[in-house]
Amino acid sequence: MSLLPRVVVLATGGTIAGSSSNPASSAKYQAATVPVTALLDAVPALGALARIEAEQVAQVDSKDMSFALWSRLVERVAFWSAQSDVSGIVITHGTDTLEETAMLLHLACVSTVPVVLTAAMRPSTSLSADGPLNLLKGALLVINQEIHAGRDVVKAHTSAVNAFVSPVAGPIGYVQDDFVRFVRTPGRLPVSAWSVPSAWPQVEILASYAEPGRIVVDALAQAGVSGLVVAAAGNGSVHQSLVEALVDAAGAGVAVVRSSRTGAGHVAIPASPRPASGVFVSAGDLNPYKARVLLALALAVEPGLAKDPVALQALFAEN
Ligand code: ASP
Repeated sequence: MSLLPRVVVLATGGTIAGSSSNPASSAKYQAATVPVTALLDAVPALGALARIEAEQVAQVDSKDMSFALWSRLVERVAFWSAQSDVSGIVITHGTDTLEETAMLLHLACVSTVPVVLTAAMRPSTSLSADGPLNLLKGALLVINQEIHAGRDVVKAHTSAVNAFVSPVAGPIGYVQDDFVRFVRTPGRLPVSAWSVPSAWPQVEILASYAEPGRIVVDALAQAGVSGLVVAAAGNGSVHQSLVEALVDAAGAGVAVVRSSRTGAGHVAIPASPRPASGVFVSAGDLNPYKARVLLALALAVEPGLAKDPVALQALFAEN
């Protein structure tokens, strides 16, 4: 009997499964075309490390990520982690929305084994493909020789191989060939496993900038959204004309959360959020896209949170 650990690879598409007719080009290619079996065949060394089992969960460009695929992914992680001899799960994913899926998995995954996302900035057919090397490593998000906590990691560059950073927390470890070193444990561990809703509440994102019209907030509120995340300026500051519109939206039962559009840092938490007077919940150090995932999961479980900003603030403070 083999003593090698059994590792399951759940493939979802992305550039790591991308191909191009021109190997010299890292920019012109089609994402999500190469089946996971072919990706694994390209890294024969994997066979010496683990008994690999692959499942093609989806084959999408992650810019088109959907709630249905998120639900399926969480379900497949739960399925495989419940198999007693599975030691780990690797998810291959596109880089565009990886930070959102990573946040979802952080919040909703019930797994007793490590769940590792990996991705690539260059297609598998590129002369300098980064995917094969990323596949050979693994933990949380492993990319470009760094290990990042799923909650914290974001894509911060359009095309560089080192596009992923954890802007506030930093990486939690690194990988060099077969050497893996964790330099610390993640600052935030999941506090509970959120269930993935069958119907997601509508939560949208809008931004604050010079002289914004209130038309976007009014239209969204009128359309019946459950929550709004504001990509606010600096330390969570919102233009006065948007504040007025958001106060009205909150009065109509829409949850309002402020994140920052700066890309890094913590939005100061108000002593007591009071939307009626223009003091809205802070997303802490979650960027707008990650804050949206948490807000949607929270409103799915407890729609009443939209009218309880103190409870909503506590939830953002602990997740
Ligand atoms: N559009 C691709 C995706 O997110 C980009 C990538 O994977 O790097 O699926």
